[in-house]
Amino acid sequence: MLPEDVSDLSNMLRLARRAVVFTGAGISTESGIPDFRSPGGIWTKMSPIDFDAFVSSAEMRREAWRRRFAMEEMFASVKPNAGHEAVAALVGRGTVSHVITQNIDNLHQDSGVPETQVIELHGNTRYAKCLDCGERLELAPIRVHFETHGEPPDCAACGGLVKTATISFGQAMPEIEMARAERATLGCDLFIVLGSSLVVYPAAGFPMLAKRNGARLVIVNREPTEQDEFADLVIHAGIGETMRAAIAEL
Ligand SMILES: [Zn+2]
Repeated sequence: MLPEDVSDLSNMLRLARRAVVFTGAGISTESGIPDFRSPGGIWTKMSPIDFDAFVSSAEMRREAWRRRFAMEEMFASVKPNAGHEAVAALVGRGTVSHVITQNIDNLHQDSGVPETQVIELHGNTRYAKCLDCGERLELAPIRVHFETHGEPPDCAACGGLVKTATISFGQAMPEIEMARAERATLGCDLFIVLGSSLVVYPAAGFPMLAKRNGARLVIVNREPTEQDEFADLVIHAGIGETMRAAIAEL
């Protein structure tokens, strides 16, 4: 992390009329959440259950819930880190209008970013939803039912299937969130990518949308990304330390 890069980022933040932050797994690995897609990550050892399999197979639904509850202690105990706190501080100052995230861990909300300013492209694993009526359901009672009956419950309101509120492989992207993310992206003059390798589309299309619309593009990631060559500033370093240093210079 070069001091002049931090100063550049700080200057860009100071000059921005409206910034948008876009986050991926790399911001949450600093809180101890594994990156499922990385080499050696969970999905290289155990293939993810795609949406069609979940809907069509009771055994796959049981397996999906078994896996989810096996991770509950981790998800229930993780805390936002310096990166999340820096983003929340920029939202609090009014510099950042929206946080678009590929993460499902709720850590931006936990760090104090208002619900209305977080756009979750891949949903949220901290609660569940009925696939038919959209009713929100909490995980604790689902777990009690699962452990008692060996099956997840169906939706009490409509009898539909209950799934974590995440977007699985093969599941349609959430229309409202995609539209909100597009509006936020087109409304910003500074787009900051934090901890995404920018390979998972359509989410990875937003930085280029911002760039084509005239915004400046900053990428902070430990490793090179697919879109480094298009960015106005690239910093290959930890997110927490970089953002904290940039904010300190504001
Ligand atoms: Zn329902």
